[in-house]
Amino acid sequence: THFGFETVPEAEKEARVGKVFSSVASSYDTMNDLMSLGIHRLWKDHFVRSLNPGTRSSTSGNSWNILDIAGGTGDIAFRMLDHATNINGDLHSKVLVSDINPDMLAEGQKRSLQTPYANTGRLDFKVGNAEKLDFVESNSIDLYTVAFGIRNFTDKDAAIREAFRVLKPGGVFAVLEFSHVNSSLFNAFYKRWNFGAIPLIGQVVAGDRDSYQYLVESIEKFPTQEEFSSMIQRTGFVVPGKGYENLTGGIASIHKGIKP
Ligand code: SAM
Repeated sequence: THFGFETVPEAEKEARVGKVFSSVASSYDTMNDLMSLGIHRLWKDHFVRSLNPGTRSSTSGNSWNILDIAGGTGDIAFRMLDHATNINGDLHSKVLVSDINPDMLAEGQKRSLQTPYANTGRLDFKVGNAEKLDFVESNSIDLYTVAFGIRNFTDKDAAIREAFRVLKPGGVFAVLEFSHVNSSLFNAFYKRWNFGAIPLIGQVVAGDRDSYQYLVESIEKFPTQEEFSSMIQRTGFVVPGKGYENLTGGIASIHKGIKP
């Protein structure tokens, strides 16, 4: 049941990634909760709080133009609008949710009907590839977010360059992604969980072992915190502090870059 991703050509990899997410769209929440023991919700809350969307700033005025890439089911977008509205009293900031997979996006669109933002003009959905954001104007975005998405992109550098292009000067590029655990003892337990439990949970809950095996392998292959921060800086972003924040011992991390 090994996915053998290394040996497949890029175009085929893209098709497989597509299949993975079409297959998980409906069981997505259950799987996330089981795989992360519910912690992904806390990470997402923390990510959004740290970005503080909807505050007044010199670039955005009193309304932020936010792009949530690989936004899938709307998890990050809804949180950002909740934060802007409830914490900052901002009723104007908008989020464009984009995802390459129409099934994931349709799930987000469906869920948006249960939020206060349906039919307010504050949420929009658009199918698109992060590596080629033709539908987004240069220098138009205040905040670009991507949560648990960039790991799956075929050409990560191209996606970061596109993020740089669409952001306004002063705009923020923010990534929440699985990362690398820094303690070797903790890592031993974590690896057992990832390679043992996750494909099994995938098989039992989603009836799809291979897709979850792929997800685990993609986490392993993702650059380290330092490497990823260098990629962001090479594109031209200025990174604050050491460039990243570890969550839960490095199981996930947040990277930020500011377009000068
Ligand atoms: N951001 C959501 C969250 O945190 O729950 C969804 C994350 S989901 C694990 C990863 C998403 O990345 C999938 O919906 C998938 O379709 C999307 N994706 C993969 N490659 C992409 C690409 N090149 N451009 C845009 N989205 C992509």
